[in-house]
Amino acid sequence: MIVRKSPMEIERMHASGQLVGRILAALHEAVKPGTTTMDLERQALAMIRAAGAQPAFKGYYVAAVGKKFPAALCTSVNDEVVHGIPSRRRVLREGDIVKVDCGVLLDGYYGDSATTIPVGQIPAETERLLRVTREALDLAIQQMVGGRRLFDVSGAVQRHVEGNGFSIVKEFVGHGIGRQLHEEPQVPNHIDPGVRNVRLRVGMVLAIEPMVAAGDSRTRILRDRFTAVTVDGSNAAHFEHCVAVTRNGPRLLTAV
Ligand code: MG
Ligand code: MG
Repeated sequence: MIVRKSPMEIERMHASGQLVGRILAALHEAVKPGTTTMDLERQALAMIRAAGAQPAFKGYYVAAVGKKFPAALCTSVNDEVVHGIPSRRRVLREGDIVKVDCGVLLDGYYGDSATTIPVGQIPAETERLLRVTREALDLAIQQMVGGRRLFDVSGAVQRHVEGNGFSIVKEFVGHGIGRQLHEEPQVPNHIDPGVRNVRLRVGMVLAIEPMVAAGDSRTRILRDRFTAVTVDGSNAAHFEHCVAVTRNGPRLLTAV
């Protein structure tokens, strides 16, 4: 069942979305060569607590793994696509990219957003991967209009990514969001005939999150049972925003 949100609920989701947005902006400033992914975790957790919110991922039970995720952030470096675990041993180096995914629960509503942060100077081709992924998300957001369909969103991502010679990671998808972190519908980043192409309606809030690989998009899971890496070791990018369908068009909740 897809839960549609009232204008009042969307205001609350905007508040949790703004908290996540402020955290990601602060982490963007904090990332430098020599920063550890645990430094980012500590900073995020402090901001979440200071706002009177709760981390959404820390303690989140993942049935497929049979374990709870141990941190407030997912920090995934280079060929790690998603679900990397912050560590004081993981030191970021010049030329790396780090994907930071943050979820919070504030006043009963979830916010969820991700970004890919360059560490110092990165190669031009890596920069292009980040730009194309970010553009794909922007194109998808523009499709969040009542009366259109889910595949207008998915197709916008797919066309832009594949048209630029990159590949879509298909094992992970976006999702509805609200009082639950993961609600219906699933939001694939490609036109997936296995998913129902629902009509977008005012009040729907989706977390749209393209995950894009520079090479082969297939992934495998590391021994920690959470971290997904590309099978060929190629770089991957990830950007995510929560977006509401409103009478006035798409409303971006997690951008600051
Ligand atoms: Mg996320
Ligand atoms: Mg998400």
